[in-house]
Amino acid sequence: MKTKTIIEKLLANKPVEKNELIALLNISNKAEIQELYKAAYQVKIETVGPVAYFRGIVEMSNQCIKDCYYCGIRRSNAEVERYLISEDEVVQTAMWAHAQRYGSMVLQTGERQDNQFTAMIERILLRIRDESNGELGVTLSLGEQSEDVYNTWFNAGAHRYLLRIETTNNKLYSQLHPPDHSFKERVNCLKKLRKLGYQVGTGVMQGLPGQTTADLVDDIMFFKEMDIDMIGMGPFIVHEQTPLANEAENYNAERQFELGLKMIAVCRLFLRDVNIAATTALQALNPTGRELGLQAGANIIMPNITDTKYRKAYQLYDGKPCLEDSSGMCKGCLSKRIDSIGETIGLGKWGDSPHFKKRTDK
Ligand code: SAH
Ligand code: SF4
Repeated sequence: MKTKTIIEKLLANKPVEKNELIALLNISNKAEIQELYKAAYQVKIETVGPVAYFRGIVEMSNQCIKDCYYCGIRRSNAEVERYLISEDEVVQTAMWAHAQRYGSMVLQTGERQDNQFTAMIERILLRIRDESNGELGVTLSLGEQSEDVYNTWFNAGAHRYLLRIETTNNKLYSQLHPPDHSFKERVNCLKKLRKLGYQVGTGVMQGLPGQTTADLVDDIMFFKEMDIDMIGMGPFIVHEQTPLANEAENYNAERQFELGLKMIAVCRLFLRDVNIAATTALQALNPTGRELGLQAGANIIMPNITDTKYRKAYQLYDGKPCLEDSSGMCKGCLSKRIDSIGETIGLGKWGDSPHFKKRTDK
């Protein structure tokens, strides 16, 4: 079937076959790729509007008990200097974001499950809720936890959670992680979060060694089946100090970037009213990557508000941008970038996805 016909079906919100979505991800003709982005942008305007919401992200700690083969801060990377930002500093940063009218923030770390850590997060959440009068939205991205812990954090004020499934191809998942990392448990965590009332975000990496476009379409079907509210995803980028670097022989940054954008576009066309982030990984591969992400259908930007001194130690992948920038610079630069594509910033708002609103209004 012709690309144009598939796109037209999606624009009319008609059912499509998996093979048709695979065909869209496989497009290589430049003009057709532009048509795909244009159509996704149209659906974005219809469903979420030409507004980019900011989520200031604090990379609070690179301590991690996990050993994912692709990640630069994995437990076994002895070259990383580990840090943990203090509670006071995290709360101060949160209040800076609030003063900038960011509306919402993300707290992200490597994974830790010990009581000292989980209690510290609870205290931080309570303080942010208190000091911002409950106005600053908080998304957590702190990995796999017990239902009790997720519940405690929810009650302390967190209302969104990001936990990428990374890939829904079970076999590929086991090739990317040590044997004690469980795909099943990760899915289970998404279910726990949903049950507790969180807005749930997930995502995958694109262009992983051994991953096919059919796998990516299965990922999109998974987002649909799990009724996901938000998507945070990006191309896989090699980190030289990781085991996966040896397997990524045919790595091509341009191809990774294009696949990242195509995945955003197909998700927007197929899932329609979810929030989709234009992640930093896109900018790592292309200086205007995040703007292009917004133009391919994304509607969320996550400015880095981590103090500059920590940024070098939080490199999940090589070539992470803005390592020398301060939070103020990130804000100015991003505002200009959003102006440049004629969109506005959703200041002072939580910016829930219409998808979440619809499912909770039922
Ligand atoms: N520890 C938490 C959150 C921090 S990692 C967790 O794993 O959920 C956040 C995300 O970074 C991961 O979900 C993964 O998708 C992404 N990431 C890690 N290494 C990467 C790489 N080499 N290229 C692209 N994304 C990567
Ligand atoms: Fe740790 Fe997350 Fe990196 Fe895995 S992806 S090693 S859990 S920080």
